[in-house]
Amino acid sequence: MGIGTPIRFSGSEGESTWAVEVRSSRIHGAGLYTTKAARAGDVVYVGRPGRIVRRTEIPGLTPVERNHLDQVGGDSFEVIEPPGCHINHSCDPNVEEPDHVGVARRDLAAGEEITLDYDRIACLDAPFPCACGSPACRGIVRGRV
Ligand SMILES: [Zn+2]
Repeated sequence: MGIGTPIRFSGSEGESTWAVEVRSSRIHGAGLYTTKAARAGDVVYVGRPGRIVRRTEIPGLTPVERNHLDQVGGDSFEVIEPPGCHINHSCDPNVEEPDHVGVARRDLAAGEEITLDYDRIACLDAPFPCACGSPACRGIVRGRV
């Protein structure tokens, strides 16, 4: 399943600007992509803080919300807002995301798919087979268990 027209997000962070777009991904469904090159350490996107829910509230979320949760504390989960919710997993991610700010871990070309390591941040309904294609692939994505 993919999507048709790309959805763009952009903003500025200090003196630099960032721009990303959501479009169909080779890894899974839709993914988030750079639209311009970035250097290691550059801000690639900035997300908004999402709603915080407790574990007991998770069953009442929509299926989409349940699939886009980060664990932010022992019993605290954040519903991830766009554009972060569109980012696919890689076992060798090119971005890390402290405090909703996506920072390049290495130089990125324009048009590269942005990836994060779900095993470090995400709360998943169930483990799933990884399709990241990295030589360092661990084969299965479990989330932050
Ligand atoms: Zn992998």
